[in-house]
Amino acid sequence: MKGTQQSPTQTSAVMKSQQLRFQRMLWGFVSMGCTITIVLGLFFFGLLPGMPTLIYLGTIILMSAVFVGLNKSGLNLRFKDPSMTAAQIISPLWPAILIMYFVSDAQARMAFLLMATGGLLFGMFALPRRTMLSVGALIVTSYLVLLSALFQWAPERVNWRVEVIIVFAYFSVLMIVAYLGSVIAGMRSTLKKQNQTLEILASRDALTQLPNRRALMDQLVKASARMERRSAEQNELCISMLDIDHFKRINDTWGHDAGDAVLMQVSRVLQHALRQGDFVGRFGGEEFVILLPESTLTAAMQVAERVQTRISELTLPELPDGTRITVSQGICIHKPGDKIEVTLKHADEALYRAKSQGRNCMVVAS
Ligand code: GH3
Ligand code: MG
Ligand code: MG
Repeated sequence: MKGTQQSPTQTSAVMKSQQLRFQRMLWGFVSMGCTITIVLGLFFFGLLPGMPTLIYLGTIILMSAVFVGLNKSGLNLRFKDPSMTAAQIISPLWPAILIMYFVSDAQARMAFLLMATGGLLFGMFALPRRTMLSVGALIVTSYLVLLSALFQWAPERVNWRVEVIIVFAYFSVLMIVAYLGSVIAGMRSTLKKQNQTLEILASRDALTQLPNRRALMDQLVKASARMERRSAEQNELCISMLDIDHFKRINDTWGHDAGDAVLMQVSRVLQHALRQGDFVGRFGGEEFVILLPESTLTAAMQVAERVQTRISELTLPELPDGTRITVSQGICIHKPGDKIEVTLKHADEALYRAKSQGRNCMVVAS
């Protein structure tokens, strides 16, 4: 393990994407299998000598083993693109070029170009447009290198008129694929942005912009898991359930809009009263939950005290001069092994007691 800690949810997300990358790799192998079939076909039909066929098969198997090894050992996570898509499209290219040199029939060479296009189609869903174009350019360049080698050493196997047409046609196909790839890349990036917006919408409370109950519970699960792993005496997770006193009266007396304004102001105070690493969310209605990870009870009570004071000092333009808002809090310590629901229930009971003790105060759950 490195210095940075990963939560169990992060680890399982990494494992999931590694699994997905492996599945995509298997699809790549299927396409590679088709190329191997073509090579074997050429060999059996007498269009390809045995030695290059063997070298080709050996190289392809070795390459596939390297990719699987990288994925299974997790070494691919160190790369800029852990899916290694470009590498997987490019690397089978050179063994194929070698084979194409030995193929005695110009028409049979076309089969490989078709397969290379198939490989590039995989890239359409994963690679940015620039990389797509580079991979395409590399395929064309490699083919031109092959042609020069053929002209040089085996001119009887090339017909330059046919080759001019093939290179032009192939270049055009690459351009079309690259263009379609860039359209798909654009759609992917729009989708990603929309997903991020949705995620924010789903985790924020529309009125106060604070994390909502769902986000709060997520955070509580994470903070609890982190605490479980440390479980030192000093590392307690303190929870405060906070409720605005007589809030219904505010609504009834000065209207719902005034009530909303109070909720927003209280939320702002809560956000500013907390340290980095603390967390506050709207639990529902006029109830908020504050999470204080790595905090002792004494420290948590100091925070609660500060929140209490700052809210009572709020001046509210929506309410008549001198109107004061107070809150009550129920504080509970979440210990290793405790159930989150039980901790929340204890905090709620403590809050209830604070209410019955006259409000504008806090009670620590016993
Ligand atoms: P207590 O001191 O015992 O907490 O009394 P309370 O009046 O604050 O408690 P109660 O639960 O009776 O009333 C809460 C009120 O909060 C009722 C509900 O209409 C109001 N409320 C809940 N959500 C909102 C909101 O988003 N905006 C406004 N303006 N009011 C809300
Ligand atoms: Mg309430
Ligand atoms: Mg209330």
